[in-house]
Amino acid sequence: MSKKYDVVVIGGGPGGYVAAIRCAQLGLKTACVDAGQNTKGKPALGGTCLNVGCIPSKALLESSQLFANAQQLQTHGIKVENIQLDLATMMARKDKIVSQLTQGIAGLFKANKVDWFKGRGKVLAGKLVKVEAEEGISQLSAQHIIIATGSSVADIPMALIDHEFINDSTDALSFSAVPRRLGIIGAGVIGLELGSVWRRLGAEVVIIEAQDEFLPMADNDIAKQAQKNLTKQGLDIRLGARLLAANVKDNQVEVRYQQGDEELQETFDKLIVAVGRRPNSDHVVSLDIDLEMDERGFIHVNKKCETSVPGVYAIGDVVRGAMLAHKASEEGMMVAELIAGEFTQINYDHIPAVIYTHPEIAWVGKNEQQLKDADIEYNVGQFPFAANGRAKALGETDGFIKILADAKTDRLLGMHVFGPQASEIIAQAVITMELGGSAEDLALTVFAHPSLSETLHEAALAVDNRPIHIAPRRRR
Ligand code: FAD
Ligand code: AMP
Repeated sequence: MSKKYDVVVIGGGPGGYVAAIRCAQLGLKTACVDAGQNTKGKPALGGTCLNVGCIPSKALLESSQLFANAQQLQTHGIKVENIQLDLATMMARKDKIVSQLTQGIAGLFKANKVDWFKGRGKVLAGKLVKVEAEEGISQLSAQHIIIATGSSVADIPMALIDHEFINDSTDALSFSAVPRRLGIIGAGVIGLELGSVWRRLGAEVVIIEAQDEFLPMADNDIAKQAQKNLTKQGLDIRLGARLLAANVKDNQVEVRYQQGDEELQETFDKLIVAVGRRPNSDHVVSLDIDLEMDERGFIHVNKKCETSVPGVYAIGDVVRGAMLAHKASEEGMMVAELIAGEFTQINYDHIPAVIYTHPEIAWVGKNEQQLKDADIEYNVGQFPFAANGRAKALGETDGFIKILADAKTDRLLGMHVFGPQASEIIAQAVITMELGGSAEDLALTVFAHPSLSETLHEAALAVDNRPIHIAPRRRR
């Protein structure tokens, strides 16, 4: 006999657990089957994001930045001697944050009466879900099924992960000592964030990136400034460098790579492979179900996250779009509400992206290259943090904000930030764009003084060539 549910969610990451809670809030009898485990091998909700992604990486980014800041305290007139790193305590703090948050999700499941099945789920014909757990195999039946199985670290044959010398991002969140020389394959979001952590803690970091362009998905001006700044911090970023082989010899990793016509070699104490993630779509449905996928294994869905199988939805990293926790969660909410018969949708044009380097990089909407390619006429307003009083007081004057507004309607088309608290500042652009706001709307808004957000105000004024705290462009 199979236990009956209105909704069975497979996967308990930010996509799946949010979908399950929202379904339960809407009065649907809901189960969540999750195979997720914490780094100690115990069942834990929260998926990649809480266990080995967003949260532990941000905890280490924060701690390592404090360590770096502590060495600059003399500029504030504060003398601190003998600053030392206690990596074990830093890691224990990170682990505690992770376990508090994952246990919090378990508590929310209880409070919302979501049944948690700790095991691997598979969709069978007839809207059944097989659950393979330690205790044995069981079966659930459901009116609706949501696949939220997420993604896993992508690997490459030239650098096989051994979890000691050649590592993935999960290993790099738990190194027990700071490597003297650290190599990273891939200058994407994860490579830059992990590289920043270990650089700040003292490692020499070399990042090998196959593409010629740095952060091609970001606005060109932002990417250029970020590259300069990160290089100054000591990240040795080698572009147009394709990995050929990585081999462990005498407790070191020997890396060969091609840059232009040259074949080059480097030796590292540890290597992190950060070349992206792949969707977890193998074995999620039985062979007799015709679930459409693309050639890379992403489950095919429409705008409502409906798959090719009626009653089966898929959300988060396992489907097209940005591999981001907030995108997964919003899809989870949307699908829950659609199942409950409500009207809802996601505006995929307004999903913010953040890279938590120091300073942070954040953007929403279109960048200049995309507007040019689409032949859309636009005005630009830009303002540097160096001319912002709060940024000066914080000692965080690197970077700028760039606003792109439609030349005819003045509507905000995009905003790009390289600077302090970019992850927080970007939300103001997301809200403005969601409400169909213009650069003038922002220009007419009152911002607290002194605040970093005044940089956004000035960038909006600069769209109309009337910033107060920098000279305007020469008027035509
Ligand atoms: P996941 O979080 O991957 O969760 C899927 C869950 O399903 C897992 O628990 C998995 O074990 C389980 N599962 C898989 N198959 C089955 C099955 N057959 N049966 C049962 N359970 C199954 N995103 C951000 O937005 N901001 C960040 O700062 C950020 N930082 C990151 C840092 C790192 C180092 C990494 C690796 C990722 C980061 N991400 C970040 C990406 C983010 O973690 C993912 O986009 C997000 O977790 C996707 O959510 P999801 O619910 O789709 O899948
Ligand atoms: P992301 O997809 O943001 O996680 O970034 C992964 C990065 O790794 C991308 O910028 C890729 O270009 C880069 N990359 C992938 N394969 C290789 C390789 N063999 N050598 C060097 N860089 C690579």
